[in-house]
Amino acid sequence: MPQSAAGKSVIVTGASSGIGAATARKLAEAGADVMLAARREDRLKALAAEIGGNVRWRVTDVTNHADMLKLGEDTIKAFGKVDVIVNNAGIMPLSPLANRRVAEWDQMIDVNIKGVLYGIDAVLTHMLARGDGHVINVSSVAGLMTNPTSAVYSGTKHAVKAISEGLRKETAGKIRVTCVYPGKVNTELGLSIKDPAVIAGIGARFNYTGLEGEDIANAILFAIASPRNMGINDIVIRPIEQEM
Ligand code: NDP
Repeated sequence: MPQSAAGKSVIVTGASSGIGAATARKLAEAGADVMLAARREDRLKALAAEIGGNVRWRVTDVTNHADMLKLGEDTIKAFGKVDVIVNNAGIMPLSPLANRRVAEWDQMIDVNIKGVLYGIDAVLTHMLARGDGHVINVSSVAGLMTNPTSAVYSGTKHAVKAISEGLRKETAGKIRVTCVYPGKVNTELGLSIKDPAVIAGIGARFNYTGLEGEDIANAILFAIASPRNMGINDIVIRPIEQEM
């Protein structure tokens, strides 16, 4: 039987490309009302037009707390409630620590950690009041291990793992919390790498075929469509060639 998300109201951050866009498409197809959030308005508009149905979009910067609170409020206004938030927005400007790309460290911490926290804050009070809800955080296999050049990125993704675990324990029996750890997926994520040496070496390092955004979207739909008494804590999903 196809998985259903019928009647669910879902916020997807980072919906303007990659895993977020694929997840929005998949969930809308499965019957969900979807609120698309990201900064690039043209992308959000085009995706909303492509999907049709009950999809809305809101230009949102996940690093801005007030903006994220407004995202939660606007979703409740549009769809009456928020059942699920997929905290997916993220960046990955890899570099060795010795190269001192401090502005990129700050950016990663702001988007990958604070963005997830602000996403949780935008919906948690509402979900606890309703006694129902599902927070899905997108970490990475880099949230389970660390390699050279990924000290800060992995640090942010380990933080997403810890935040997910803490939230799950604090809200046990009330809301569901799922943390997703993708391996290599073919998206625009690599474009956030600006360190010339890392760019030069990245092809050799990830020299196998990546998954597609849709593969991760299928896993997210599985978690959402599973029965309410069934907590899907963690999903690790990677190309079989990817060592870990
Ligand atoms: P993309 O670069 O394709 O998508 C990233 C998304 O994040 C975009 O929609 C971008 O939208 C959004 N984003 C970035 N900064 C902000 C911001 N400040 N506010 C709001 N949105 C923002 O990459 P992926 O789809 O691959 O990445 C999605 C998630 O998956 C990330 O958390 C990433 O770390 C994780 N991941 C990806 C893997 C991969 O191999 N691709 C592997 C493991 C994890 P916009 O620029 O319009 O704001």
